[in-house]
Amino acid sequence: MIQLDLEKLNKEYLDKSPEDIIKFVVEHIGISRVALASSLSIEDQVLTDMLIKINPRARVFFLDTGRHFQKTYDLMDETMQRYKFHYEVYAPESKELEQAVAEHGPNFFYESVELRKKCCEIRKVNPLKRVLGTVDAWICGLRREQSLTRQELNIFEWDSSHSIYKINPIAFWSEDRVWEYIKKHNIPYNYLYNNGFRSIGCQPCTRAVKPGEDVRSGRWWWEDPDKKECGLHVRVGGTV
Ligand code: SF4
Repeated sequence: MIQLDLEKLNKEYLDKSPEDIIKFVVEHIGISRVALASSLSIEDQVLTDMLIKINPRARVFFLDTGRHFQKTYDLMDETMQRYKFHYEVYAPESKELEQAVAEHGPNFFYESVELRKKCCEIRKVNPLKRVLGTVDAWICGLRREQSLTRQELNIFEWDSSHSIYKINPIAFWSEDRVWEYIKKHNIPYNYLYNNGFRSIGCQPCTRAVKPGEDVRSGRWWWEDPDKKECGLHVRVGGTV
């Protein structure tokens, strides 16, 4: 794997566009060893647009938990048609999921924090490990503004839990800037955003938020805010 000077790159690319950041990563790491994680959020739609325009052979993956909103699956179809590409799809291991549902019931994620985390582990974290085992860098749509735990986010990071690079090209973008890009390029987006949803994950664990509420307050709303992550984005000192 190529060695990147993260500190230097973070200074050098602070004022550069996300497209410049993506081009650097694709050129230096290689198109087959980089993948964009998409949950079909507005951020991921922006990055999909940029990445596919830079290289139509780019890898974009989707973790199909089996519990997404129908509107998310519809958007996936629409996006595939718009950009004429296919997502790499990673689903939970059937045995693991079958056992958990048989033992705890179909809605076991509501039972306790531990079982909720177990569900995220089976449906998201473990499939993520499989895809990240095939790359040297993953691109994510995380932004500093999204939550207090993301305030320290950098553009170029080392993901120590997967031993690969993690690239956050829009780490410094505001939500307004994301929407400007979506509108300007007429990018398809999940219409749930028009109904008060601001961070969209699995249907049973996502709800709309009121104006002024934290962007991520509609995710796992019944839990303590400190524990509200699915384990996909682990950093030294906690999850983001
Ligand atoms: Fe399970 Fe909810 Fe996590 Fe989706 S967000 S994997 S349904 S606990």
